[in-house]
Amino acid sequence: MTKVKLNDAYPNIEIDLGMGNVLRKGETKDIPESYELKQAIELGHVEVAKETKKWDGKNAKKGSEIWVFAEQRNNKISRVVLELLGAARALSEKLSVNVAAVILCEKDNGLSNELIAYGADKVYLAEDARLKDYQTDVYTKAISDLVSEHKPQIVIYGATHIGRDLAPRISQRISTGLTADCTCLDIDEDDLLVQTKPAFGGNIMAQIKCKTKPQMSTVRPGVMKMLPNHKKRKGSVVKIRLEIAQSKTKVIDIIKSAKKRVNLEESGIIISGGRGLCEKKNFEMIEKFASLIGAEVGASRAVVDEGWIKEDHQVGQTGKTVRPKLYIACGISGAIQHRAGMQNSEMIIAINKDPNAMIFQIADYGIVGDVKEVIPALIKAIEGE
Ligand code: FAD
Repeated sequence: MTKVKLNDAYPNIEIDLGMGNVLRKGETKDIPESYELKQAIELGHVEVAKETKKWDGKNAKKGSEIWVFAEQRNNKISRVVLELLGAARALSEKLSVNVAAVILCEKDNGLSNELIAYGADKVYLAEDARLKDYQTDVYTKAISDLVSEHKPQIVIYGATHIGRDLAPRISQRISTGLTADCTCLDIDEDDLLVQTKPAFGGNIMAQIKCKTKPQMSTVRPGVMKMLPNHKKRKGSVVKIRLEIAQSKTKVIDIIKSAKKRVNLEESGIIISGGRGLCEKKNFEMIEKFASLIGAEVGASRAVVDEGWIKEDHQVGQTGKTVRPKLYIACGISGAIQHRAGMQNSEMIIAINKDPNAMIFQIADYGIVGDVKEVIPALIKAIEGE
């Protein structure tokens, strides 16, 4: 028997390899020796499939690494990767193992050093012009092969468009589980990863453990705390040579959406409005205040549901998770689902006319008053400076 697959360049969708053995495009099959098979191989119609050994996770070494998939776009590491390195470091201390980042890119150009500075002990680096832009099939094969070879015990991805596309495919390829959209990661007494995520529409927080290895999670941007950049941190860089698959797709151009992106996760200051603003028109003063102090505008779900502002401004359990230096909550009650998205902000200022509003329980400073009076007064004070 020979394990073969139809060559991508073969023009038909199937080939007859004698004795009733038909091989179709996309299949990898054991075919008994025959004249037809020999000829098809010689003519390049079929190729002998390489044995790719799947890792079933059973022999995971206790001390094996924690991996962070280092997503890059235009040779710039996504911020969520740096946050994940911070989270991985905390996990690694509980497990006494190393943290490794895996990066596929066109050229390193300092990316490995940046990953080490933010917490990686080791960087697996694959450089190739074909890895410049994310392509589902190429990246899936590359990371699946690397995981099968190096057997990390945990792999974490950002819950970005790329991470959400890539991680489930890898989990299928290497036969392990995946917990998507985690908001917290921890290690239990059996050294297993405890993955917390909102479930049932956000009504409960589920804690999920995975029996198979590697344990894999995607984590929302903004949830984990990035460590400071330690430029002097030492780490190793392992250059890897990948067998890069021929992609079925070709990236012709990458066009950025013309619409202004609401960049809540990366903003240092956020001013959020809630139902206490009383009407849509009053968001104008929030926007004015935000533009004066260089802030992004956030919102509670109540006002998104009212149609006062678009949903990409929503902060909370079913919105964005943010961690700015300053979060100003204007007319927001502080429901648990809103707090879930902003309570890790470095400083919280709340403006609410109800002195018993829940938001005051987590606020560093509180202003009890009518937002429609307090915000214009603040704007006036800033403009008068
Ligand atoms: P309200 O609760 O109505 O509070 C308005 C506040 O404004 C009150 O505290 C009031 O005292 C104050 N106020 C009124 N008038 C004034 C004034 N003139 N000046 C000053 N203060 C004033 N919510 C989110 O925000 N994000 C989420 O991601 C989210 N996900 C959810 C997921 C699920 C599954 C569920 C069930 C709910 C979710 N919610 C979410 C909704 C959440 O429970 C609250 O209903 C919502 O956060 C309330 O928004 P709010 O604070 O703007 O409005």
